[in-house]
Amino acid sequence: MPSLKRNASSVLLEIDETKILIDSGPGTTRQLLEAGVYLNQLNHIFYSHFHPDHISELISILFALKYSGLKRDNPLYITAGHGFLGFYERLKSVFGHWIELDKLILDEMNTFTPDHRSFDVFDVNSIPTNHNPESLSYRFTSKIGASVVYSGDTDECQQLSHIAKNADLFICESAMPDGQKVDGHLTPSLAGKIAHDAKVANLLLTHFYPECDTVNIENQCRKTYSGPLWLAQDLMRLAV
Ligand SMILES: [Zn+2]
Ligand SMILES: [Zn+2]
Repeated sequence: MPSLKRNASSVLLEIDETKILIDSGPGTTRQLLEAGVYLNQLNHIFYSHFHPDHISELISILFALKYSGLKRDNPLYITAGHGFLGFYERLKSVFGHWIELDKLILDEMNTFTPDHRSFDVFDVNSIPTNHNPESLSYRFTSKIGASVVYSGDTDECQQLSHIAKNADLFICESAMPDGQKVDGHLTPSLAGKIAHDAKVANLLLTHFYPECDTVNIENQCRKTYSGPLWLAQDLMRLAV
Protein backbone atom coordinates (compact mmCIF):
# COMPACT_ATOMS: atom_id res chain seq x y z
CA MET A 1 0.00 0.00 0.00
CA PRO A 2 1.33 3.50 -0.76
CA SER A 3 2.66 4.88 2.50
CA LEU A 4 4.71 7.86 3.67
CA LYS A 5 5.85 5.74 6.60
CA ARG A 6 7.16 2.67 4.80
CA ASN A 7 8.81 1.84 1.51
CA ALA A 8 7.90 -1.41 -0.25
CA SER A 9 9.79 -4.66 0.40
CA SER A 10 13.57 -4.79 0.25
CA VAL A 11 16.33 -5.98 2.56
CA LEU A 12 20.07 -5.40 2.15
CA LEU A 13 22.29 -8.14 3.54
CA GLU A 14 25.98 -7.36 3.91
CA ILE A 15 28.60 -10.05 4.50
CA ASP A 16 31.90 -8.19 4.80
CA GLU A 17 32.12 -6.34 1.46
CA THR A 18 29.55 -8.52 -0.31
CA LYS A 19 26.20 -6.81 -0.79
CA ILE A 20 23.09 -8.92 -1.31
CA LEU A 21 19.76 -7.27 -2.02
CA ILE A 22 16.68 -9.34 -1.23
CA ASP A 23 13.65 -8.11 -3.18
CA SER A 24 13.35 -4.60 -4.60
CA GLY A 25 9.93 -3.07 -4.29
CA PRO A 26 9.24 0.39 -5.75
CA GLY A 27 11.51 3.08 -4.33
CA THR A 28 14.37 0.73 -3.42
CA THR A 29 17.08 2.55 -5.43
CA ARG A 30 16.44 5.74 -3.47
CA GLN A 31 16.32 3.89 -0.15
CA LEU A 32 19.68 2.30 -0.97
CA LEU A 33 21.16 5.76 -1.41
CA GLU A 34 19.69 6.72 1.97
CA ALA A 35 21.56 3.69 3.34
CA GLY A 36 24.79 4.81 1.63
CA VAL A 37 24.81 2.11 -1.04
CA TYR A 38 25.34 2.68 -4.76
CA LEU A 39 23.84 0.24 -7.23
CA ASN A 40 27.22 -0.73 -8.68
CA GLN A 41 28.19 -2.08 -5.25
CA LEU A 42 25.52 -4.78 -5.39
CA ASN A 43 26.83 -8.31 -5.98
CA HIS A 44 23.57 -10.23 -5.77
CA ILE A 45 19.84 -9.72 -5.94
CA PHE A 46 17.49 -12.48 -4.77
CA TYR A 47 13.76 -12.30 -5.46
CA SER A 48 11.22 -14.09 -3.29
CA HIS A 49 8.50 -13.82 -5.98
CA PHE A 50 7.24 -11.64 -8.80
CA HIS A 51 4.59 -9.47 -7.12
CA PRO A 52 5.27 -5.82 -8.01
CA ASP A 53 5.76 -4.77 -4.38
CA HIS A 54 8.85 -7.05 -4.38
CA ILE A 55 10.29 -6.83 -7.89
CA SER A 56 9.18 -3.71 -9.76
CA GLU A 57 12.35 -1.73 -8.99
CA LEU A 58 14.37 -4.29 -10.97
CA ILE A 59 13.62 -2.25 -14.10
CA SER A 60 14.98 0.94 -12.51
CA ILE A 61 18.04 -0.86 -11.14
CA LEU A 62 19.02 -2.30 -14.55
CA PHE A 63 18.29 0.98 -16.34
CA ALA A 64 20.34 2.98 -13.83
CA LEU A 65 23.26 0.52 -13.94
CA LYS A 66 23.32 0.84 -17.71
CA TYR A 67 23.06 4.61 -18.07
CA SER A 68 24.11 6.24 -14.77
CA GLY A 69 27.83 6.01 -15.54
CA LEU A 70 28.43 3.99 -12.36
CA LYS A 71 31.45 1.81 -13.07
CA ARG A 72 30.93 -1.92 -12.58
CA ASP A 73 33.79 -4.32 -12.03
CA ASN A 74 31.93 -7.31 -10.63
CA PRO A 75 29.09 -9.31 -12.18
CA LEU A 76 25.58 -8.90 -10.81
CA TYR A 77 23.92 -12.22 -9.99
CA ILE A 78 20.12 -12.18 -9.96
CA THR A 79 18.43 -15.26 -8.58
CA ALA A 80 14.73 -16.07 -8.26
CA GLY A 81 12.29 -18.93 -8.56
CA HIS A 82 11.15 -20.91 -11.57
CA GLY A 83 9.98 -18.67 -14.42
CA PHE A 84 12.40 -15.83 -13.73
CA LEU A 85 14.30 -16.20 -17.02
CA GLY A 86 11.01 -15.93 -18.93
CA PHE A 87 9.97 -13.02 -16.72
CA TYR A 88 13.18 -11.16 -17.68
CA GLU A 89 12.68 -11.97 -21.38
CA ARG A 90 9.17 -10.50 -21.19
CA LEU A 91 10.54 -7.36 -19.51
CA LYS A 92 13.02 -7.09 -22.40
CA SER A 93 10.17 -7.38 -24.89
CA VAL A 94 8.89 -4.11 -23.39
CA PHE A 95 12.12 -2.28 -22.44
CA GLY A 96 14.56 -3.88 -24.91
CA HIS A 97 18.24 -2.91 -24.69
CA TRP A 98 17.51 -0.32 -21.99
CA ILE A 99 17.65 -3.12 -19.43
CA GLU A 100 20.29 -5.35 -21.07
CA LEU A 101 23.52 -5.37 -19.10
CA ASP A 102 26.98 -6.88 -19.41
CA LYS A 103 28.09 -9.12 -16.57
CA LEU A 104 24.53 -10.02 -15.63
CA ILE A 105 24.08 -13.61 -14.44
CA LEU A 106 20.51 -14.85 -14.06
CA ASP A 107 19.57 -18.04 -12.26
CA GLU A 108 16.41 -19.88 -11.26
CA MET A 109 16.13 -21.97 -8.11
CA ASN A 110 13.81 -24.94 -7.88
CA THR A 111 10.30 -24.04 -6.75
CA PHE A 112 9.14 -27.63 -6.22
CA THR A 113 11.79 -28.91 -3.82
CA PRO A 114 14.46 -27.40 -1.55
CA ASP A 115 17.44 -26.06 -3.49
CA HIS A 116 20.94 -24.77 -2.75
CA ARG A 117 23.68 -22.58 -4.24
CA SER A 118 27.19 -21.86 -3.00
CA PHE A 119 29.08 -18.61 -3.56
CA ASP A 120 32.46 -17.37 -2.38
CA VAL A 121 31.38 -15.85 0.95
CA PHE A 122 27.98 -17.45 1.54
CA ASP A 123 25.66 -20.36 0.85
CA VAL A 124 21.97 -20.02 0.15
CA ASN A 125 19.21 -22.56 0.65
CA SER A 126 15.68 -22.12 -0.62
CA ILE A 127 12.30 -23.73 -0.14
CA PRO A 128 9.02 -23.17 -1.98
CA THR A 129 6.45 -21.27 0.06
CA ASN A 130 2.70 -21.03 0.09
CA HIS A 131 2.04 -17.76 -1.77
CA ASN A 132 2.73 -17.81 -5.55
CA PRO A 133 3.93 -20.71 -7.74
CA GLU A 134 7.39 -19.08 -7.94
CA SER A 135 7.60 -18.07 -4.25
CA LEU A 136 10.71 -18.92 -2.28
CA SER A 137 12.07 -18.47 1.23
CA TYR A 138 15.83 -18.14 1.51
CA ARG A 139 18.39 -19.03 4.15
CA PHE A 140 21.72 -17.22 3.77
CA THR A 141 24.68 -18.69 5.67
CA SER A 142 28.03 -16.94 5.82
CA LYS A 143 31.25 -18.93 5.79
CA ILE A 144 31.62 -18.35 9.55
CA GLY A 145 28.16 -19.83 10.09
CA ALA A 146 25.98 -16.74 10.67
CA SER A 147 22.51 -17.30 9.24
CA VAL A 148 19.69 -15.03 8.07
CA VAL A 149 16.36 -16.40 6.86
CA TYR A 150 13.96 -14.34 4.75
CA SER A 151 10.44 -15.73 4.53
CA GLY A 152 9.24 -13.70 1.56
CA ASP A 153 5.48 -13.57 1.35
CA THR A 154 3.90 -16.76 2.60
CA ASP A 155 0.90 -18.29 4.24
CA GLU A 156 1.40 -21.04 6.81
CA CYS A 157 3.99 -23.42 5.41
CA GLN A 158 5.33 -26.53 7.09
CA GLN A 159 8.85 -26.23 5.73
CA LEU A 160 9.34 -22.67 6.97
CA SER A 161 10.23 -23.71 10.51
CA HIS A 162 12.78 -26.17 9.05
CA ILE A 163 14.62 -23.62 6.91
CA ALA A 164 14.52 -21.13 9.81
CA LYS A 165 15.87 -23.67 12.34
CA ASN A 166 18.22 -21.95 14.82
CA ALA A 167 18.67 -18.96 12.48
CA ASP A 168 20.50 -16.00 13.96
CA LEU A 169 17.92 -13.72 12.36
CA PHE A 170 14.53 -14.70 10.94
CA ILE A 171 12.95 -11.96 8.83
CA CYS A 172 9.32 -12.99 8.59
CA GLU A 173 6.33 -11.41 6.94
CA SER A 174 3.42 -10.45 9.15
CA ALA A 175 1.12 -8.69 6.73
CA MET A 176 -2.11 -8.53 8.71
CA PRO A 177 -3.04 -8.42 12.41
CA ASP A 178 -4.39 -11.44 14.26
CA GLY A 179 -8.10 -11.84 13.52
CA GLN A 180 -7.78 -10.17 10.09
CA LYS A 181 -5.70 -12.84 8.33
CA VAL A 182 -5.86 -12.95 4.52
CA ASP A 183 -4.93 -15.88 2.28
CA GLY A 184 -1.27 -16.02 1.31
CA HIS A 185 0.01 -14.09 4.33
CA LEU A 186 0.84 -14.53 8.01
CA THR A 187 -0.15 -12.69 11.18
CA PRO A 188 2.07 -11.73 14.16
CA SER A 189 1.08 -14.76 16.23
CA LEU A 190 1.52 -17.16 13.29
CA ALA A 191 4.96 -15.71 12.54
CA GLY A 192 5.77 -16.01 16.24
CA LYS A 193 4.74 -19.66 16.27
CA ILE A 194 7.12 -20.44 13.38
CA ALA A 195 9.93 -18.54 15.12
CA HIS A 196 9.23 -20.40 18.38
CA ASP A 197 9.18 -23.82 16.66
CA ALA A 198 12.40 -22.98 14.78
CA LYS A 199 14.11 -21.69 17.98
CA VAL A 200 15.45 -18.65 16.13
CA ALA A 201 17.80 -16.27 17.96
CA ASN A 202 16.06 -13.10 16.69
CA LEU A 203 12.76 -12.47 14.95
CA LEU A 204 12.19 -9.41 12.74
CA LEU A 205 8.60 -8.91 11.60
CA THR A 206 8.03 -7.02 8.36
CA HIS A 207 5.66 -6.47 5.39
CA PHE A 208 3.04 -4.66 7.50
CA TYR A 209 -0.21 -3.62 5.84
CA PRO A 210 -1.78 -0.38 7.18
CA GLU A 211 -4.12 -2.43 9.38
CA CYS A 212 -1.04 -3.31 11.47
CA ASP A 213 -0.74 0.35 12.53
CA THR A 214 -4.01 0.14 14.43
CA VAL A 215 -3.06 -2.73 16.78
CA ASN A 216 -0.20 -3.78 19.05
CA ILE A 217 1.80 -6.11 16.79
CA GLU A 218 4.32 -6.94 19.50
CA ASN A 219 1.64 -8.10 21.95
CA GLN A 220 0.05 -10.28 19.27
CA CYS A 221 3.41 -11.90 18.48
CA ARG A 222 4.13 -12.43 22.18
CA LYS A 223 1.22 -14.89 22.37
CA THR A 224 3.45 -17.45 20.64
CA TYR A 225 7.05 -16.18 20.83
CA SER A 226 9.09 -14.95 23.81
CA GLY A 227 12.56 -14.40 22.25
CA PRO A 228 14.18 -11.20 20.96
CA LEU A 229 11.72 -9.41 18.67
CA TRP A 230 12.08 -6.50 16.25
CA LEU A 231 9.43 -4.69 14.20
CA ALA A 232 10.89 -3.56 10.87
CA GLN A 233 11.28 0.13 10.11
CA ASP A 234 12.77 1.63 6.98
CA LEU A 235 16.57 1.89 7.12
CA MET A 236 16.76 -0.10 10.37
CA ARG A 237 20.13 -1.88 10.70
CA LEU A 238 20.76 -5.11 12.60
CA ALA A 239 24.10 -6.86 13.14
CA VAL A 240 24.17 -10.66 13.22
ZN1 LIG B 1 3.27 -11.27 -2.63
ZN1 LIG C 1 4.30 -8.59 -0.73
